[in-house]
Amino acid sequence: MNKNNFFLCQYCGDPVTNRVFQYFSPPKTEIQFKFIEKGKYSREIYRCSLCGHFYSKHSMDSNELYKGGYVDANYEDAEGIRKTYNRIMALDPGKSDNVGRVQCVLAFSDFYYKGLVPPVSPRYVLDVGSGLCVFLSRMKSFGWNCTALDPDLRAKNHAETIVGVPAVCCDFFDFKDNRKFDLITFNRVLEHVIDPVAMLKKAKDFLQADGLIYIEVPDGETAVSFGFDREEFTIDHPNIFSYLSLVFAIKKAGLKPLFIQRIQEPSTKFTLRAFCTVDV
Ligand SMILES: [Zn+2]
Repeated sequence: MNKNNFFLCQYCGDPVTNRVFQYFSPPKTEIQFKFIEKGKYSREIYRCSLCGHFYSKHSMDSNELYKGGYVDANYEDAEGIRKTYNRIMALDPGKSDNVGRVQCVLAFSDFYYKGLVPPVSPRYVLDVGSGLCVFLSRMKSFGWNCTALDPDLRAKNHAETIVGVPAVCCDFFDFKDNRKFDLITFNRVLEHVIDPVAMLKKAKDFLQADGLIYIEVPDGETAVSFGFDREEFTIDHPNIFSYLSLVFAIKKAGLKPLFIQRIQEPSTKFTLRAFCTVDV
């Protein structure tokens, strides 16, 4: 892409021209998705030189990925979901990304709500893109009232029958509900969508006035120095955040960042975690 063929950064508005990676075959960490025709792989990663956000650009048709193809490629079927769920839930706590995530969410919620009256018990959490539902499984065990949402029917059924959590099967952009939640979580979801800001804006419709949004995304800024095969840059991530682009996304959605943390997970993934609330 040259200076006559640029696009504008969704987060800071700067022209994006800097190509950092080019792929003619999938990176080693990428799962084989059915929508990719053999031998026709072509993809590029661009980086905004102002805010550091990464964009994955390609012309392969991945529109229907989350209506079946994602689960097919990752877990094969409902039995595969159940087995992976059991394996992750049985991990030693020190080796589980999910245990660390739950500890972080519980500690921050406890800190944030302390002193807010009247006390509410139990608190309500909506997890968008619940997938294996390991997050809500643990949140439920700490007394939270949980609702799972996933566009794949097998993930929804898994949440209800194996995890015992009420679940909704839909794209979050089509979600309709009269309830307001104390906490809405996006655990490794925003990097999968084309317009993460629109998704965060929509979440405000379902948030209590003093509610929290938790965001967890891959940290492209750290991962980039480890090369193009890193899992943060796979084809299912059209958006890969930097610390600053995550702040800009939160602000553009009319939210206020309260806390942002950069970590490396026990699984070795590089991650950015953020808590935010409605900016009034
Ligand atoms: Zn930018």
